[in-house]
Amino acid sequence: MNPDNIRIVLVNTSHPGNIGGVARAMKNMGLARLYLVAPKQFPDEQASWRAAGADDLLAGAVVTDSLAEAIADCQFVVGTSARERRIPWPLLDPRQCAAQIATHSGQEQVAVLFGREDRGLTNEELKLCNLHLHIPSDPGYSSLNLAMAVQIVCYELRMLHIAGDLPASAEELWDSPFSTVDNMERFYEHLEQTLIEIGFLDPAAPRQLMARLRRLYSRVRLDEMELNILRGILTETRKQVHRDD
Ligand code: SAH
Repeated sequence: MNPDNIRIVLVNTSHPGNIGGVARAMKNMGLARLYLVAPKQFPDEQASWRAAGADDLLAGAVVTDSLAEAIADCQFVVGTSARERRIPWPLLDPRQCAAQIATHSGQEQVAVLFGREDRGLTNEELKLCNLHLHIPSDPGYSSLNLAMAVQIVCYELRMLHIAGDLPASAEELWDSPFSTVDNMERFYEHLEQTLIEIGFLDPAAPRQLMARLRRLYSRVRLDEMELNILRGILTETRKQVHRDD
């Protein structure tokens, strides 16, 4: 995936605040190329205000008179729609679509089109697209705010882009190595000895106590640091027991 080959195209946006919100949504997710097709009001104070720290994207935005100009050099075009249209077209959700966008962006110029706040994209505009994207919202209230729709699409692209950088699991981030079988065995010996000395475990009738404790600790999976703390507690406990010897 190459984010530099992906452009977000807003068609005839009415509210400059939405343009600012889109710039922010894009920049948060590492995208920078914003195209504005005949915006009603731009540049505008409200756009800069909503963009917060993303006004560099507004300054770099390409403004065109027509959609054709904005996507002339694109090889892969995705149209977004809040409703299912009469003309059947390949229709994907944001996650499936992001996978396609990511693949194409490696070598090709890709555009994702977003429509007008009041009417979306026209059928003619949607016919220019290779794919249609629909965010599976509640059919009874399906239309998202423009900037929020952009946010969802950009987020899915972000997740793919960073997929290789994410740790496979939280355990990879753990700050201490997990304890070895050998160290656990020494801990169990230490624990058993201590439990006998404090009179909790009767060696003549041990029942299943050690087995149950083993099951408890193996379920938790102790790390070396935690194991050292527990062994420190056992050592101090035994010292107390022997203090009066
Ligand atoms: N009333 C319009 C909604 C426009 S919302 C209509 O029915 O088409 C403005 C833009 O936000 C849409 O053109 C689309 O680009 C995007 N959007 C809003 N909700 C969406 C959804 N559920 N799925 C995909 N895009 C959506």
